[in-house]
Amino acid sequence: MAILDIKNLNLGFQCEDIFRQALYDVSFSLEKGKMLSIVGESGCGKTMSAMSILKLIPKTARITSGEIFFNGENLLEKSQKEMQHIRGSRIALIPQDPMTSLNPLYTVGDQLLEILKIHQNLQGADAERKAIEAFEAVQIPGAKSRLKNYPHEFSGGMKQRAIIAMALACKAEILIADEPTTALDVTIQAQIMNILNDIKINNGTSILLITHDLALVSENADEIAVMYAGRIVEKASNKEFFANPNHPYSKALLNSLPSNRGEKLVTIKGQPPTLSQIISGCKFNPRCEYCMETCTQKVPPLDNISENHKSACFLNN
Ligand code: SF4
Repeated sequence: MAILDIKNLNLGFQCEDIFRQALYDVSFSLEKGKMLSIVGESGCGKTMSAMSILKLIPKTARITSGEIFFNGENLLEKSQKEMQHIRGSRIALIPQDPMTSLNPLYTVGDQLLEILKIHQNLQGADAERKAIEAFEAVQIPGAKSRLKNYPHEFSGGMKQRAIIAMALACKAEILIADEPTTALDVTIQAQIMNILNDIKINNGTSILLITHDLALVSENADEIAVMYAGRIVEKASNKEFFANPNHPYSKALLNSLPSNRGEKLVTIKGQPPTLSQIISGCKFNPRCEYCMETCTQKVPPLDNISENHKSACFLNN
C-alpha cells in the first residue's frame, strides 16, 4: 500500500519576468515500509520533488499542478500550520548537512527532549528514557552521557545519527533522507545506510532516499526512480533495475560507477541542462549516443516496458 503518492507534479521558478519549469509531471509512489530512492545528477529536480512533499520550496518556486497524497490526504491542500504538525512528527527530513537541523547553542539531548515534549507530549523521566532509547536505536554509544553533548562535540556521522534519532523519537512514518551520507566517509556512509535499513525493517518506516550515488542505493533501496532534467526517466524495482537497466541515461550512470574499475570507467559526456537551457524533445538528447531525429522533436513518454519497470525512451518503441 502506498503511504505517499505523488501525481503529475509540475513546478517552476519565477526568474524575474520568465517562469522556468523545473519539474515535469513527476509521479511516484512510496510503499509503506519500503525504501524508494530517487537518483540523478545535481540539479535534476530530485531535492525539489522531496521539498515539495514538505511544502518547503523556495519563495521563487511555484507548484503549478499535481497532487501529493500522504495516507490519502493531499498535502498540497494543507495550510502551512497543518504542515508544521506533519513536518517533523509524521514526515521527517534527514538533511545532507545535519547542522541545518541542530542548534549549536543547545545540547543534543535538550533538543531531543524538546521534540519529545512537542510531538509526543513527554516530559521528565519518561522523555529521558525515550531519548536514550532513540539514541541506542541509532547506535550512539554511551547514549545517556552523549545526550549532554553539544552538536560540535559530535562527529559528522554522530550528528546524522542524532537527527535520525529525533525522527525516530517522533515516530515519523516517512523519513526523507536528502543525500544523508554525502559529507561522510565511506565506512560511516555504510553505517548510516544500515541504520536506515534497520529502521525500515524494525519500525516499518517508509524511506525516500535522495541521492546521486547509485552504488549507495544498490544494496538498500527497494525501488529506484531515475530523474533527468526535471523528469522521471526510469522506474523499477532494485532487482529489475540493476539486472536490466533500460534508459541510456541510467546505463551511463551505471557505467560511471567506480565499482567498474578494472574495466574502462566511462564518464557521461556533457553536462545536465540548466533551467534556462531550452532543449526540444528528450532532454537527454545532446548527451545520448543513440539520439534519433524523433528524439529532438518529441518527449518520450514514461511507458511500461515490463511488469514494474517503466522507461521514457524512443528506443523502446
Ligand atoms: Fe536517447 Fe532518444 Fe532515448 Fe532520449 S529518447 S534517451 S535521446 S534514444
